[in-house]
Amino acid sequence: MDYQASTPSDPRVVEAMLPYFQQIFANPHASDHAFGWEAAAAIEQARERVARLIGAFPEEIFFTSGATESNNHVMHAAALSAAEIDRKTILVSALEHPSVLQAAEASVRHGMKVLRIPVDNKGILDQEWLANNLTEDVFLVSVMAANNEIGTIQDIRSLVSQAHAAGALFHCDATQAFPALDVDVGLWDVDYLSLSAHKMYGPKGVGALYVRSDLQESFPPLFYGGAQQSGIRSGTLPTPLCVGFGVAADIMEHARCAEAALLAELKALFIRQLDVAGLRFKINGVIGDGGHPGNLSVSFQDIDASLLLGKLQPLVAASTGSACNSGMITQSHVLASIGCSLEEAQRTVRFSLGRFSDAEQVQAVVAMITAGIQEELL
Ligand code: PMP
Repeated sequence: MDYQASTPSDPRVVEAMLPYFQQIFANPHASDHAFGWEAAAAIEQARERVARLIGAFPEEIFFTSGATESNNHVMHAAALSAAEIDRKTILVSALEHPSVLQAAEASVRHGMKVLRIPVDNKGILDQEWLANNLTEDVFLVSVMAANNEIGTIQDIRSLVSQAHAAGALFHCDATQAFPALDVDVGLWDVDYLSLSAHKMYGPKGVGALYVRSDLQESFPPLFYGGAQQSGIRSGTLPTPLCVGFGVAADIMEHARCAEAALLAELKALFIRQLDVAGLRFKINGVIGDGGHPGNLSVSFQDIDASLLLGKLQPLVAASTGSACNSGMITQSHVLASIGCSLEEAQRTVRFSLGRFSDAEQVQAVVAMITAGIQEELL
């Protein structure tokens, strides 16, 4: 029930990765021998697969260490541009991941101004605010495709066209978009897009950044080094991780629609079962279209989230809304931005479903939640 924190690597992914640890281990950038070429060929196949998943050209995909790096890279590039161009504002949605929010804040030191786009109580961007603030001063707009805490999906295509009409660039953090959305960089017309393998049944420690081809020449590196990946992202690529990411992307491309439909059924079952059990709760975000089918953020009326999760140990993994980042007890900025009080946030649990979830698990978890809450109410 914590698939949005991380997914297990699909067995097909692990199998594909194994030869690249020991047999085909050469440096993929070693261009003087056949061993290096073989590793490089595997990486290029993986790049093609990731590109295909999002409708990009392989040359537009840069492997990174994960979405945290991809997001930081885009914000770093935006910060450096402050010295060169007149536009000096970055707009980020209030729901962004800390790797966008904090990296954007760091650009203030370079002379950028950062404004947060407010959202309504379901997490949908405030269009009126955006229309008023998309001025000639805006350099970059960054909005995630699907939120990691409450699952709200944004209409990226329409947001991009508004940003472009105002002359701004657009970055989308699509880390949590699968299997909810058919990510298509061409159709969406985004300029930059971030991905992470471990949120789509690939390994941890690898992600990608899509950079539209005509923007690459002026895109500064985050790391300096051996000029791998056209100098945009130096560093020896981890062949097994890239290969695993490629296979995960390939599987996701083919399985996405069926998986999204299955998750929607399980989510509906979860909500029905909570109702049938007579529990008092509120769902955060959007139920049905406009919400991630694998995400279920529930604010219970009668129990504290960490107390409930404590009762479910060691059998159930889920996340609290108030302490989602590395165990720190701070209120979730996402729940705060949709108007949840601190008390409500403390009673909020994010359950997330995925490829290996089934109805039996959902029923068992709801039974455990019910028993836990009843015990508390006694
Ligand atoms: N963006 C979003 C929306 C995420 O959910 C996460 C992971 N929690 C990240 C970025 C960071 O991804 P990674 O773990 O690959 O650094």
